[in-house]
Amino acid sequence: MGRSRKFSFGLGITAVVLVLGALAWFLVAIFEGEMPSASLEPSPQYINGPQEFEVRVADSKSGLKSLKVEVLQEGRKVSIFTKKFPYRGLLNKQGSHEFDKKITLDPSTLDLGQGGIKVVLEVRDYSRRNGGDGNLTVLEKKMVVDTIPPSIRPVSRMNYITVGGCGFIVYRASLDTVESGVYVDDLFFPGYKAGKGYGETAYVCYFTVPYYVKKRPRLHLWGKDRAGNESKAGFYYRIRKKRFRTERINITDRFLKKVLPYFSSYKFQPGLTNVEKFLVINRELRKENGHAFYMMRGKTTPEQLWKGTWLRLKNSATMARFGDHRIYYYKGKKIDEQTHLGVDLASLANSKVQAANNGKVIFAGRMGIYGLTVVIDHGQGLASIYSHLGEIMVKEGDLVSKGQVIGVTDQTGLAAGDHLHFGVMVNGIFVNPVEWWDSHWIKDNIIRKLKMLKRTKS
Ligand SMILES: [Zn+2]
Repeated sequence: MGRSRKFSFGLGITAVVLVLGALAWFLVAIFEGEMPSASLEPSPQYINGPQEFEVRVADSKSGLKSLKVEVLQEGRKVSIFTKKFPYRGLLNKQGSHEFDKKITLDPSTLDLGQGGIKVVLEVRDYSRRNGGDGNLTVLEKKMVVDTIPPSIRPVSRMNYITVGGCGFIVYRASLDTVESGVYVDDLFFPGYKAGKGYGETAYVCYFTVPYYVKKRPRLHLWGKDRAGNESKAGFYYRIRKKRFRTERINITDRFLKKVLPYFSSYKFQPGLTNVEKFLVINRELRKENGHAFYMMRGKTTPEQLWKGTWLRLKNSATMARFGDHRIYYYKGKKIDEQTHLGVDLASLANSKVQAANNGKVIFAGRMGIYGLTVVIDHGQGLASIYSHLGEIMVKEGDLVSKGQVIGVTDQTGLAAGDHLHFGVMVNGIFVNPVEWWDSHWIKDNIIRKLKMLKRTKS
């Protein structure tokens, strides 16, 4: 008897504990305090046109109740997207409740003005918290609407360029411009800041119509602003054709015996004859060296470092010109063709080599077929190259002044005799150096245009 009473009493307590437990669980469940998660990607600083975003929301307990996406600009509120979700019940076993949506923000269809906006995302869940409103997550993202392209206009009126030579233009662009320059067909030459005035920035740009172009290219100015808006502008230019010479070069066994030891560290395939080794050097190594020179454009200083006419090796004769089309023969048979990308100057053996103008040494060392080489950056993409040297008297990073001795001539690399191979690069592309030794050319094509910039400065 007593046993059964005790038993039923125990059963009663268990029932109460169970009921209270269930109630507690129920209350904890319906008043859960876990916030829904929300994300909006990407997060651009600027939008310049229709921009797609991915909205992702989720709730792991009571489930999603509502989602709202709005855009706010100067007190104006534009609804982009709203959604109400059906209640999934207290005992949902479907796990986390997730929802993804792609939305597009188009400043023109939403009639947004230029300037700051706020994208606001509000998501609630089915918790009974907050007076039954549920847990609320608010995500705010600030961005700037900028759909107006930068303005860009040439200052110099007429621009002459000889194929393989250097072109130069001065132009102005609106202050929001972050990148600009000249396009020669698809080839881009960056412009460099050269002053401010009239709420604009003045720029200079050196470019070339490369020696290798076959068809007459199209040139235009181009600019991009902080938001990614782009503009193009035309300018007047004349391209003068240039006839390059053809030169016949006989490769002799004696020459091969003389130059090949310099390339002993080059990894040739086994079993190559001397003339085959020469072809590897003249093609592959030449190409590698050309690429190394091209990459040096990234080391340029944004300011003009040079001044006045450039120096030419003293008391020297021109042995080969820029753009010479060289045809190589071995035992009377044509074996190769290459373009000569500098001017070869010969004087006495081991002549002193001077820096052609003020600048900064961006390379000093061995450079394949060019032998011991010094490269001087003159700023804004302009550089000079001195090759086949026997000795180098400067090191990378040195600032040099016009006339400073940087080395002596010799015949290191792929050279038949003591001479200086002098080259000029514009944004990593070789151009004809002779223009830079010509004070009239510099005055007409560069100084005169730089003066126009000063005249229009406020
Ligand atoms: Zn040369």
